[in-house]
Amino acid sequence: MALIVQKYGGTSVGSTDRIKNVAQRVAKWKRAGHDVVVVVSAMSGETNRLIELANAIQTQPDPRELDVVCSTGEQVTIGLLAMALIDIGVPTKSYVGSQIRVLTDDAHTKARILEIDKERILDDLNSGKVIVVAGFQGVDASNNITTLGRGGSDTSGVAIAAALGAEECQIYTDVDGVYTTDPRVVPNARRLTSVTFEEMLEMASLGSKVLQIRSVEFAGKYRVRLRVLSSLTDPNISIEEESQSGTLITFEDDGTMEAALVSGIAFNRDEAKVTVLGVPDTPGVAFKILDPIAKANIEVDVIVQNISTDGKTDFSFTVHRNDLERTLTVLKPVQAVIGARDLVSDDKICKLGLVGVGMRSHGGVASKMFAALSEEGVNIQMISTSEIKITVVIDEKYMELAVRSLHQVFGLEQSQ
Ligand code: ADP
Ligand code: ASP
Ligand code: MG
Repeated sequence: MALIVQKYGGTSVGSTDRIKNVAQRVAKWKRAGHDVVVVVSAMSGETNRLIELANAIQTQPDPRELDVVCSTGEQVTIGLLAMALIDIGVPTKSYVGSQIRVLTDDAHTKARILEIDKERILDDLNSGKVIVVAGFQGVDASNNITTLGRGGSDTSGVAIAAALGAEECQIYTDVDGVYTTDPRVVPNARRLTSVTFEEMLEMASLGSKVLQIRSVEFAGKYRVRLRVLSSLTDPNISIEEESQSGTLITFEDDGTMEAALVSGIAFNRDEAKVTVLGVPDTPGVAFKILDPIAKANIEVDVIVQNISTDGKTDFSFTVHRNDLERTLTVLKPVQAVIGARDLVSDDKICKLGLVGVGMRSHGGVASKMFAALSEEGVNIQMISTSEIKITVVIDEKYMELAVRSLHQVFGLEQSQ
């Protein structure tokens, strides 16, 4: 008997039949004697639909009001799932984020969770109920509704598991675990039975959508045991089988890990590149460029600046595509102040990276990667590395070609 948190994503609750299936699965765990808290996303496509509605009213929707609109998707799902559970005899109560007080900062559309009031959940659990909580949302100190960024229900799930000290947080989704790369792009990608927390963090930072990066950060900080598994299996499979399935995110010092040279490839098309051309090569310039961007709450990712031979250099970085217009607006006056020659951008790029803890102790991965890309005629626009990751920015039209070729060169496919 343990307390577990189960998070179900959009596809997993994408129809009333799927919601009834989720109810069967939850009921199975509850009837086996576990305390269960369920966190759900909006039904698939619903958040996109809500964003489109907002865009049809305002070109740049007011962030506070956008959160009011977008948070409603999850509210529908919690009510429906609670009904499905009650209908099969499982006492259940649903709550939106503000009711259990998922307290966040006030950064609308990308708020961070600060604290979760667990008392209400614990009271309900003690009275034998299943609790269903709306993911992706919270409330700030002034009672404004906030949302946590796309894919944010993963973070709600892990944060609630951390607050409750749950035995495991199970992320149920439409794939049966974490793969060497997105199986939609490489059909013979291999499922990993375990992946280290650090590798998962790097894969998420590269945009592998299977887990939102903040959920992985939370899991690391509070040592939440995290498992990614399928919601599309028969909901009545045995608990023993289900609790061994999917991919477990492990902490390296568990001591059992075989350090793979390259564990996975992740990529995303959500970023855009900004280049400030002809920047004077003097102390403080990087700060003058990036500080106003940080103050506008825009996250900067890959940053590249080279040495100069004539006192001028070019400074490039990537931001989320949704933030590109704002970034350029913020930078326009800065360009004049620092005396840069021009400001250009490109939103047809893709970020792609290889991840593996084995890179720490083995060299040669970068040269093998660059050789494979050059053989395919793919030009590399930016490169950045960490101890266990090599990232490149390339033209988005080469994304699938590059991923497939690297997947093969590093031998990541399933053995037949
Ligand atoms: P949910 O709605 O359950 O949150 P998401 O669509 O956010 O699901 O995430 C699951 C999707 O992540 C999968 O359908 C898959 O296409 C994608 N994905 C990307 N990279 C990977 C990977 N390395 N392993 C598994 N799935 C991945
Ligand atoms: N419904 C939100 C989204 O589509 C949150 C989530 O699914 O995790 O981004
Ligand atoms: Mg998701």
